[in-house]
Amino acid sequence: MTIYREDVLRVGLRSIRAQFKPSVFKQLDHVIVEAAFNPVRVNLLREAFASCKGGMRTWLECPGCKLRTGTIGFANGAWGCNRCQKWHGRHNPWTQRSGKRVSAPLPVPMVSV
Ligand SMILES: [Zn+2]
Repeated sequence: MTIYREDVLRVGLRSIRAQFKPSVFKQLDHVIVEAAFNPVRVNLLREAFASCKGGMRTWLECPGCKLRTGTIGFANGAWGCNRCQKWHGRHNPWTQRSGKRVSAPLPVPMVSV
């Protein structure tokens, strides 16, 4: 069965970063993300990277496949990334251009330390 991106409860690194002060976020090594009463511990990976925001790049560690990712999602009762959960956007250009959502907006997962 195909899982579409709009049916996945997703949380990205940028929305996690936005919930903390920059000084607090720099110290974090993990966050707890909860959706539909399924909390998961997500490790934050730091690696040296030349960017305009400084010499460090932060990644999320996927709870499923343990690879680095920018976004994790909850679908079919498990947390994972788009690689191990195999969710993706719609390929039909008409559903993309119409701007209409096929389903109602999903609630945003909760993030805590
Ligand atoms: Zn994964």
